[in-house]
Amino acid sequence: DAEVVFVGRSNVGKSTLMRELTGHSKFNTGKKPGVTREPNHFDWAGESFMFSDLPGFGFMSGVEEERREAIKTDIVRYIEEHADKILVGVLVVDGKSVVDIIDRHTGEDSIPHDVEMFYFLEELGIPTVVAVNKMDKVDDRDERLNDLCDRLGLYPPWEQWKGDTIAPIVAKRGQLEPLKEALRHHFHEAKRDDL
Ligand code: GDP
Repeated sequence: DAEVVFVGRSNVGKSTLMRELTGHSKFNTGKKPGVTREPNHFDWAGESFMFSDLPGFGFMSGVEEERREAIKTDIVRYIEEHADKILVGVLVVDGKSVVDIIDRHTGEDSIPHDVEMFYFLEELGIPTVVAVNKMDKVDDRDERLNDLCDRLGLYPPWEQWKGDTIAPIVAKRGQLEPLKEALRHHFHEAKRDDL
């Protein structure tokens, strides 16, 4: 089956999103950091897919730096090994905090996890959708999404990236249409490439 991988910092709402998207309840919001859950086979839009929930990366309270690095290495290795089968990557971010976090972690020789992951997927030729979650907490929606595009090297305005790359959502309320639209887009593209 074609595979869709979900990556994101911990606490961005990735488990909530996957639960809402699939209707499966077994994407536990269990707080065991670094545990790659078994891929879930899943039928969606008339096709059969594997949705893989990769461990949350970045800061987690109570988890040591060394362990966090090991988790990231595991994620990178998993994606590299499965790159041929991965149809789409979904990078889940928290719309309320992502721009601040990126700016805080951008230094002379450091690149923030979210940006790094986005580029990494791109380098492997894996089309990536950024699911910008928790938009219910964002007031200046367009400005925020434009800033995020800017940080990811996507030329604003964000509307240009709607439908395939930038998908503002509220996972908690099941408001996922922009993400579903982007996923459908990539599924169709992949099918066309197969022909
Ligand atoms: P994960 O660590 O990325 O899997 O995150 P979870 O799915 O466990 O969610 C982390 C927290 O974010 C929980 O308290 C969720 O209820 C909350 N959350 C998830 N989606 C949304 C959303 O769309 N809006 C808001 N405001 N909170 C959300």
